[in-house]
Amino acid sequence: MPPLSELSPDALADLRAGLRKEYDALKGQGLKLDMTRGKPASAQLDLSAEMLALPGNRDTTAEDGTDARNYGNLQGLAETRALFSTLMGAPADQIVVANNSSLALMHDTIVYALLKGVPGGRGPWSKEEPITFLCPVPGYDRHFALCEGYGIRMIPVPMTGEGPDMDAVEKAVSDPSVKGIWCVPKYANPSGETYSAETVRRLASMKTGAPDFRIFWDNAYAVHHLTAERPELANILEACAAAGNPNRAFVFASTSKVTLAGAGLALWASSPENLRWYLAQAGRRSIGPDKLNQLRHVRFLRDDAGIAAHMEKHRELIAPKFAAVEEAFAARLAGQGVAQWSAPKGGYFITLDVQDGTASRVVALAKDAGLALTPAGATHPYGKDPNDRTLRIAPTFPSLAEVRKAAEAVALCTLLAAVEARLG
Ligand code: PLP
Repeated sequence: MPPLSELSPDALADLRAGLRKEYDALKGQGLKLDMTRGKPASAQLDLSAEMLALPGNRDTTAEDGTDARNYGNLQGLAETRALFSTLMGAPADQIVVANNSSLALMHDTIVYALLKGVPGGRGPWSKEEPITFLCPVPGYDRHFALCEGYGIRMIPVPMTGEGPDMDAVEKAVSDPSVKGIWCVPKYANPSGETYSAETVRRLASMKTGAPDFRIFWDNAYAVHHLTAERPELANILEACAAAGNPNRAFVFASTSKVTLAGAGLALWASSPENLRWYLAQAGRRSIGPDKLNQLRHVRFLRDDAGIAAHMEKHRELIAPKFAAVEEAFAARLAGQGVAQWSAPKGGYFITLDVQDGTASRVVALAKDAGLALTPAGATHPYGKDPNDRTLRIAPTFPSLAEVRKAAEAVALCTLLAAVEARLG
């Protein structure tokens, strides 16, 4: 079929009638599908089933001779920190291993900065008004919710395919109220892109108005490949140190989508000075983390090769789901001039850019047909996508058959919304 823009009003009206019929039939199927969040499927969680038997009731002594069942070791076991050294791009002594949820670490780091300030700053961020974070868009809604919840102003910056638009970032950070930037540097949520070496270099070396500016480097998808390619991500901590800004980056990651989303380990890394600062704050909050879970992960994953082999099993389970979405979109939407979608090489999401002004309508149509999608606007600060364009598709959780069905439904809703918009 030719692009919609080449269709006469009569042809468009005929098309709408046909799509409406299809849509009514879809509604009649009584679907109940949920593509809202990037959760691992149960089959992915099953990959770590053996881990739950570890370390066993006789294997509770850590390498340093301490009893992993007891209080203490706020920074995490040395062997666990060593296990994640490559993934974090930091030496083990600059890593903290905490309980599950890296989002919790991001939350705490922000709250500590608000209440106490960070090294190199003039005191608590909360005493300065306003404070601002740069938010590359499309981005992760929970980052934005954190800022909104604590009164941090957000400025969107467009993504370019190799990270945020660095001309815009460099300009914005000259304002001393700009204290931070959110970055998901590898297989970004949701665009799937990986920051180029030049983007990393510019982030590390740019001149900032705030002496205590921080990069929140959320490397949530560091080892989550969907293809045989391994795009390189430059090391942010090394780049910052080389540029004379050793305290600029806080690095986060977790095993939520490596082992168990609700029972994984959260990881934090930064410069030695930031590490001392972080531990001083965190030491008021807790005497120490669950070190049995840390031993469990060490016994189960073992080393970099163990992590890579385990992630390969995830890939086998989820790559076909991404392929099913791609096929459904291509079959229905290619060449119509109504949508563009990403072909991620890793991570958990596909972005679907629909015709401007129709993303909310697509979500509403999908909802009425029994398919829950992430709300339109969720990929932008304050939930506001000025173009009402970008949708985040999360294919991992439903079964392959459900994903296929859901993607076909999304494609139909996208086309119908575009035709409706053209007919007015
Ligand atoms: N960061 C990003 C970019 C994510 O996409 C997610 C989950 O979807 C998280 C963090 C949450 O990580 P965690 O489970 O470690 O809290």
